Amino acid sequence: MIPKMFLCLTILLINICLFNNVSGQNEAIRLPKSLRPYKYFLTIRPDIYSPSTGFPFSGSVIIDFDVTSTTNQIVLNQLRINVRNFFLVLAPENTIPGANVPGWANPIQNDVQQTVVVNLNGTLTEGAKYRMLLIFNGEMEVASNNGMYVDYYDIGEVRRYLVASQFQIDHARKAFPCFDEPEFKAVFKVTVERKRTRHALGNGELERTRDLGDGWFADEFAETPHMSSYLVALVVSDFEKVETRSPNGKLVRLWAQPEKAKYLNFSAGAAGRIQDWFEEYTGIEYQTSKMDHVAVPSRGGAMENWGLIQYGENELLYDPENSVMANKVRVALVLAHEIAHQWFGNMVTCKWWDDTWLNEGFAAFFQWQPLEAVLNWDIGLVQKVRDEFSIIKQDETSLSLPVQRPDIQKPSQAQSGFSGFTYRKGGAMLRMLEQMLGKATFQKSLKKYLADFAYKSAITDNLWNSFQTVVEEDGVTLPNGEVFPVKEIMDSWVLQRGIPILNVTRSGNVLKFDQQRYLQPDLPVPSYTWNIPITLANDASGAGNLTTVHMVRTKEDEYTSPSSLGSWFALNSLSTGYYRIKYGSEDETALINKLKSDVNAVDRIYRAQLLDDAFSFTSNKYRKEVEALSFTTFLKQENTAGTWVSAINGLSRLYERFTDFDSAEIGKYTRSIVDTMFNQFTFEPKPNEDDFTAFSREIVSSAACSFGNSDCINKANELVNIYREQKENRIAPNQRYTAYCTSLSSGDKIRENFFFFEEQQKKTNELNYNEINDLVAAQACVSDQTQVNMLDEYLDRIIKSEDLYYSDLERVTRLVALSASTRGRNRTLERIDELWVEDFPRGNRATVLLAVARNCHTPFTIQKVRDQMTRRPAEGGDEIVYEEIENALKANEEWTNENFSEIDDWFRDNVQANVDEKEIFSFSLFEKNFKKSMKFLDLNEHF
Ligand SMILES: [Zn+2]
Repeated sequence: MIPKMFLCLTILLINICLFNNVSGQNEAIRLPKSLRPYKYFLTIRPDIYSPSTGFPFSGSVIIDFDVTSTTNQIVLNQLRINVRNFFLVLAPENTIPGANVPGWANPIQNDVQQTVVVNLNGTLTEGAKYRMLLIFNGEMEVASNNGMYVDYYDIGEVRRYLVASQFQIDHARKAFPCFDEPEFKAVFKVTVERKRTRHALGNGELERTRDLGDGWFADEFAETPHMSSYLVALVVSDFEKVETRSPNGKLVRLWAQPEKAKYLNFSAGAAGRIQDWFEEYTGIEYQTSKMDHVAVPSRGGAMENWGLIQYGENELLYDPENSVMANKVRVALVLAHEIAHQWFGNMVTCKWWDDTWLNEGFAAFFQWQPLEAVLNWDIGLVQKVRDEFSIIKQDETSLSLPVQRPDIQKPSQAQSGFSGFTYRKGGAMLRMLEQMLGKATFQKSLKKYLADFAYKSAITDNLWNSFQTVVEEDGVTLPNGEVFPVKEIMDSWVLQRGIPILNVTRSGNVLKFDQQRYLQPDLPVPSYTWNIPITLANDASGAGNLTTVHMVRTKEDEYTSPSSLGSWFALNSLSTGYYRIKYGSEDETALINKLKSDVNAVDRIYRAQLLDDAFSFTSNKYRKEVEALSFTTFLKQENTAGTWVSAINGLSRLYERFTDFDSAEIGKYTRSIVDTMFNQFTFEPKPNEDDFTAFSREIVSSAACSFGNSDCINKANELVNIYREQKENRIAPNQRYTAYCTSLSSGDKIRENFFFFEEQQKKTNELNYNEINDLVAAQACVSDQTQVNMLDEYLDRIIKSEDLYYSDLERVTRLVALSASTRGRNRTLERIDELWVEDFPRGNRATVLLAVARNCHTPFTIQKVRDQMTRRPAEGGDEIVYEEIENALKANEEWTNENFSEIDDWFRDNVQANVDEKEIFSFSLFEKNFKKSMKFLDLNEHF
């Protein structure tokens, strides 16, 4: 599953759990293990045909089950459904003669414990097979993305209702009574009842339809594989489909509301081929006769239900005319993630949510791999930047969690098993293991794991055991010749939280290592040690060496290279190891100098890692700020936009601080680097270029226009002029925001462009949400440089509300956006008193002031904010925000005193002489554009 904003939810749920756990019985319980279901016959009738009277459902479920230990009680899960009848008989498969069929009392429902309990007046016979029948009804929620729920879309004035489902983590129990924990796997034979105006989809293919009379039909679906209850799914809708066959001949259908079905084409072209990729990689054929992918209007994220994957529309639909490349990447990643689950998660399932990473870590690992093969995307660097650098940043904080979570035992804790640490760090752990064992042994081990646990559930030690068997067959050893101990090596990574920093010093051919946990400043450092694989790149080895030459297994350790290390070396050379490295200063200088003369001496992924490490060390106070900058000196030779992203991540923190000073040195320095990249990419797309060139161009051109590259600025203005005059938008979706924003911060048509964008924004229909976002966001780039004083006019429209031009929320959002630019911020600060008027949303004044304060660094602007706080003391609940403002100002003062002049001098010394000083630098354009183009990096959090 890719959940929607799970991180916040997780934090929230932990709080709720702590609060609710006062009494052990006062929450959902785990089921006893004495009964094991093996087959369900579920018939369900969701009624969406009289919306004015609600959305009831009714159904019946027959559950055939084994008795593994004798009991006089049947306990199932249910939540907020009404179980009306219960019957018990022996199952047709029972082979125990004389098995006892006791009588039963009325079912007792408990919505706190989320159970239905049937007390028996005798015991069930151990080893016998029984069949129970329950008849039930309930009410569906609307657009809840939870249980079996009602969703809708509108065609003009007409609202069309549909039924969708989301049963993970534990919502199947809201649709029918069941054994709703992942280890209780069974076969499900599902029948869905619907009226003529809709069709139904289930996990299996439709086998037959019966006419029930009264306008109702029963659609009977093929039996599912042996699977967990959270994978059961259904959709009842009038959606339209695109039907394809994978190259291996499997039926693949994609569904969306009729007006949006045309946006299914990209997914339709990729889904079948990705599915076939997994068949080939695992050597296991896809398990059911069809695969449906459905875009459900109100949901976000996606859910891997076996044979019936449900997505948010943004996760499955792609509009080539108006969507940026980042959307395309996201759609492809989500497709691959959910398809990966059919093997990893659906076929082999974590036994309980303490091992969620066995589902999600694998899906996160495999969401990238097929894209290289199927879409020909060279995506390894994007993966590194998007998935790993972002999770490492969280792993350095006190919010870090382990990948494997033995602490999760109660149902109320299960949600916290779905965190970035199970997904992205879990994926990183598998990538590191693949490097240590080699691709062939890794793949063979996975095949064994799938074969050992197909249609069963597994725990982490099961995975390590399958691997260990293959490792021994293949004779994989540690560098010292010892058999590779899979569990021992990996436990240090998946059971401990955090990431290590490895300090490396060299004397001759001996490398000395010292490891400790890498943490943000002021956090206590625990005495963890990890098993850290060392790979080595130098002149002798080449850039892409993946051989583990040494394993650091103690806090301090050393390695003697059998041959000369040469004049420079780099460790973790393809960045497959999950750790940061701090080299001794001479070795660091030698490495940077090597890259300045030959940037390809190490792989580009490692170059990105070097920059990420360098800026992380300065932000966590492991080094002085200025020391990271020497790593950017090789960027003049850099040829990969993705490596740039790493540098920009770090430099953007400095830009934010420098915008408040009148120092242009940082801008000039960056210009001298970015020009080389821009000349390679140019502004406009070239015919037939690949997707990633287009994606890189977005990053490079936003930097080039922001830092005053005149070719870039002229081209942007020219394209916007054509758009305005001819009403024909020839700007590629990836370049639109850059072009709009540039045309509002430079050029001679700022005023015309501003109002043209506003007019367009109102006309754009709802399908082009990317276009609307671009237009609205670009308006914050407006500059007051020109005679028309457009910035003040824009501020008038936001602050003064005579015409109620913008909603309250928009007024605040637009002011916050303006505060990112020097001119916007200064002008807002000059006019800040105007916010203290009756009709300006009171609670949001402090929010605007905070946004401004965060970017104030000079004594002058800092004093202005403080004056405002004195003049307008905190009112009604704003005290906390005021405290935050004062903290931000103090931190900025401190940073400036410690770092500003040193860094400014560094830039002055390193700027190339030939940069034109007249050019403008639009930090706000750069900042916002960069963040926007990187939006898809937040995939897990945003879904
Ligand atoms: Zn998933």
